[in-house]
Amino acid sequence: MAALPISALRYRSSVLQNQTIAPGAFELEMTRGGFLYRPGDEIVIHGRSQPEDRTYSVVSGENDPTIKLLIRIIPEGITSPLLALLKPKDTVEFTGPTGSFQLREPDRPLWFIATGTGIAPLLSFLRTHPNMRPTVLHGVRTGEELYYRDEVEQRSAAYYPCLSREGEHPQRVTDALKELAPPADADIYLCGGQPMINSVRTILLEKNIASDRIITEPYFFW
Ligand SMILES: Cc1cc2nc3c(=O)[nH]c(=O)nc-3n(C[C@H](O)[C@H](O)[C@H](O)COP(=O)(O)OP(=O)(O)OC[C@H]3O[C@@H](n4cnc5c(N)ncnc54)[C@H](O)[C@@H]3O)c2cc1C
Repeated sequence: MAALPISALRYRSSVLQNQTIAPGAFELEMTRGGFLYRPGDEIVIHGRSQPEDRTYSVVSGENDPTIKLLIRIIPEGITSPLLALLKPKDTVEFTGPTGSFQLREPDRPLWFIATGTGIAPLLSFLRTHPNMRPTVLHGVRTGEELYYRDEVEQRSAAYYPCLSREGEHPQRVTDALKELAPPADADIYLCGGQPMINSVRTILLEKNIASDRIITEPYFFW
């Protein structure tokens, strides 16, 4: 039987920790209270006014005691630099859960393809289903942006870090994917910018992956 949807409600939470986990990126840990979510869900953090509201994927697992978010600071952005300044005991108001990026069947062959902070909902899948062993491709600019690398690698059957601006052979997830052969019966989850999602989808379709096996979560749209 399909699980019932959880209704989005407005919550008030306290910051427990705000930790830099890589240059320009931080993990915000907040009290969970009665907030229910599934792996892949998002919350909308409310800014001082509605134009500052922003959506973030939950990176913690479904049964974890706190809510964790992985946030990259967009230096020219409005909200992420403000969230970077949050301190323990500060209040965060949010609405959630939102979104439709849900894990369909943890027992299928699984491929996860993410760029940047797009690894967050995929790690929530992994933390919720510790026996899952997907193939993971993570694309970032430099090695220090491979957020949660040790944990993701440990939880993966195969892990492909793709560095677009480092090393002798810079590589994007699209370059790595071209050399690989996802099985036709795999569910493939993509999370990151829309351009990456479009390019990866094209490659997967060329590799005869059915479009209904490709599940996507775009973070930004240019
Ligand atoms: C479904 C969903 C889930 C998301 N989950 C996360 C998450 O888990 N962690 C996270 O850090 N962000 C996530 N985002 C992006 C987040 O909502 C904000 O867009 C981001 O934090 C920038 O907000 P800002 O106000 O600082 O920048 P803005 O003032 O909104 O934007 C400034 C510029 O940066 C661009 N931009 C926005 N987001 C990004 C990005 N991620 N990378 C590069 N450029 C960007 C904008 O298009 C704009 O040109 C998610 C977005 C969506 C739609």
